[in-house]
Amino acid sequence: MRKILIVGAGQSGLQLALGLQSKGYEVTLMSNRTADEIRAGRVMSTQCMFHTALQHERDLGINFWESQAPRIEGLGVSVAAPDSSRAVDWVGKLDGYAQSVDQRVKMAGWMEAFVQRGGQLVIHGAAVSDLDYFSRTYDLVLVSAGKGELVSMFGRDASRSPYTEPQRALAVAYVHGLGPRPEHPDFDAVRCNLVPGVGELFVMPTFTTSGRADILFWEGVPGGPLDAFQGVKDPAEHLSLTLELMEKFTPWEYARATKVELTDAGGTLAGRYAPTVRNPIGRLPGGGLVLGVADVVVANDPITGQGSNSASKCAASYLASITEHGDKPFDEQWMQGTFDRYWETAQHVTKWTNAMLGVPPEHVLNLIGAAGQLQPVADRFANGFNDPSDFENFFYDPEKTGAYLASVSGA
Ligand SMILES: Cc1cc2nc3c(=O)[nH]c(=O)nc-3n(C[C@H](O)[C@H](O)[C@H](O)COP(=O)(O)OP(=O)(O)OC[C@H]3O[C@@H](n4cnc5c(N)ncnc54)[C@H](O)[C@@H]3O)c2cc1C
Repeated sequence: MRKILIVGAGQSGLQLALGLQSKGYEVTLMSNRTADEIRAGRVMSTQCMFHTALQHERDLGINFWESQAPRIEGLGVSVAAPDSSRAVDWVGKLDGYAQSVDQRVKMAGWMEAFVQRGGQLVIHGAAVSDLDYFSRTYDLVLVSAGKGELVSMFGRDASRSPYTEPQRALAVAYVHGLGPRPEHPDFDAVRCNLVPGVGELFVMPTFTTSGRADILFWEGVPGGPLDAFQGVKDPAEHLSLTLELMEKFTPWEYARATKVELTDAGGTLAGRYAPTVRNPIGRLPGGGLVLGVADVVVANDPITGQGSNSASKCAASYLASITEHGDKPFDEQWMQGTFDRYWETAQHVTKWTNAMLGVPPEHVLNLIGAAGQLQPVADRFANGFNDPSDFENFFYDPEKTGAYLASVSGA
């Protein structure tokens, strides 16, 4: 059977490894950490995944935590007014529920399942020189190592990467003890709180190593008041700062957070990165070729919560391209075609996410405001997180937005 090496055991690498394994491929997975190290380590994401991405996991039978993870049935948007009241406040209903399973739980569990099913797991932080050797001994080498150092093998695609610098400073805290939003205590939702010119606070439930928890996630405009977490090493200090900023900028979220405690010592994360699209094929010094997967080739800012969704969609798309290719060689042409097929979906995510990082134009402000009066608009916006290609129909072009709002108001 064909031999495939996957470097990097995150959402995309593990999903592909388990998928290929189930189809009889001989898969080797290389990870720079063991399952136990991942489980006992630091949180990596907020990893909220919507229906289509979750369905790819169900299709492979690897939705191991679906019954335990909270069902996220809505997506809400609140906009802070200058006096810190809410100028806009609505929640759209998702057609299919979303879920967040802490990547520490998921990646550790998937890695163990891969080994139990006979997969070969190598614990090793791969370097470019290792890949040179492996590209000669495997039929295909896939690099799914996220935003780590191996991306240096893949050239930046400037035509698809409008930003050269990080657009947000990220600060995440996993907590127990968050109260419900009093307006909708009956169902869970992702809450997107926009503070114009300052940044965004995302609040969502998750399933972590200690069961159900909630995530408080600040995205701060660099240099602004939320860009305050760099150098904060103590998790307790990180949480106090998170809460202090919530009290100041989003008091309605702070009101339900007064009794929270961190889930564990690894429950905080801070950082930043520039959103980047890369050329999908890495050329090794010895002439071999490797194909980049998910964040390696398309890394978007988490402002739209799409990276894990995209990793799942990329893994599903690559799995189809690999199996459909049969015994033919995985050459450069196949690699480019495989990425191009994924880009058909990924381009919409990148376009929308990069738009959300900028200052919103007037027609987008009108759209977000109108969703407070028109429930179908709120619902459609919310479901765009599952399928961002729909934003082409009503988000970017003022005329299309106007026509859409007129059609909903008329109805
Ligand atoms: C703060 C934050 C919040 C986010 N929130 C969301 C969200 O709500 N929804 C969403 O969909 N996405 C979200 N994302 C994005 C999402 O987490 C990532 O896009 C997704 O995990 C990417 O998957 P991946 O498989 O490409 O890489 P990763 O999940 O990053 O996995 C890469 C793996 O490769 C390993 N590795 C790295 N280098 C090497 C090496 N040299 N050798 C071997 N192994 C290596 C790493 O340790 C890691 O385990 C968020 C990201 C951040 C930072």
